[in-house]
Amino acid sequence: MLKIGSHVSIRGGLIEAAKEAYSYVANTFMIYTGAPQNTRRTPIENLKIEEGHTFMEAHGISDIVVHAPYIINLASYKEDIYQLGKDFLRLELERTTLLGANYLVLHPGSFTDKTSKYGIERIASALNEVLSETTVPLLCLETMAGKGSEIGRSFKELKDILDLVDLKAKIGICFDTCHTHDSGYDIIYHFDNVLEEFDHLIGLDKLKVFHINGSLNAIGTKKDRHANIGANESNPRGQDFIGAEALYNIVHHPITDNKPLILETPWLDTKTNLYKEEIAFLRG
Ligand code: FE
Ligand code: FE
Ligand code: ZN
Repeated sequence: MLKIGSHVSIRGGLIEAAKEAYSYVANTFMIYTGAPQNTRRTPIENLKIEEGHTFMEAHGISDIVVHAPYIINLASYKEDIYQLGKDFLRLELERTTLLGANYLVLHPGSFTDKTSKYGIERIASALNEVLSETTVPLLCLETMAGKGSEIGRSFKELKDILDLVDLKAKIGICFDTCHTHDSGYDIIYHFDNVLEEFDHLIGLDKLKVFHINGSLNAIGTKKDRHANIGANESNPRGQDFIGAEALYNIVHHPITDNKPLILETPWLDTKTNLYKEEIAFLRG
């Protein structure tokens, strides 16, 4: 079964997040525990978690995903940023557990003026500090577009992190269609070859979450700008270079079966998004 939803707001607690997802006819969803750009967080007691789960059960919504904020940079050579990243990741893992979510998605980090090798080792040692046998959620490293000095722009970089992590069973991968396309993988015409390469390096069993987005740019451009599914030039946010057909095929590929598929497509303006239409289209 297609398990599909979108990013939704946690502002009104888990209950409002679940209701928002339901309004898009979604059966899963993704939340940030607060603003993705900062570390201010609503106390967990105020998030109406039980109410949220009761609503979710009654409406067939499950397998929700939490996304860690962008300010966590585990590849940073700056001690204060590195420490903040580890501390905040620990808290996010706890919050994810309390929210009853199985997955916490994390951008691996950016090496800024160091090297990719430096960043990879830095990330792995942070993960070794933070993860323990008792960690409940699966920490899903996201495939990145490769803008700036982002690590995770190739499956090889993710594999290299994983190789250095002690508790490998605590790590999964979140596959973002916009990011893999932007980083140069041909998910439009050769998705099976891309999966083969992933399997060879990391293993398909590590694929746990998918972000389903179009891209405003051509393959390999390393931009990371999401487009609405199959959008043409008349869409105010611009044209999707991946295209509706390729994205439809991906969500109906056996690899995505029963895994959370999360739309992070742009809002057209402050009041309008296309999540409901996009979900309906992708369901077919
Ligand atoms: Fe992300
Ligand atoms: Fe993403
Ligand atoms: Zn992105």
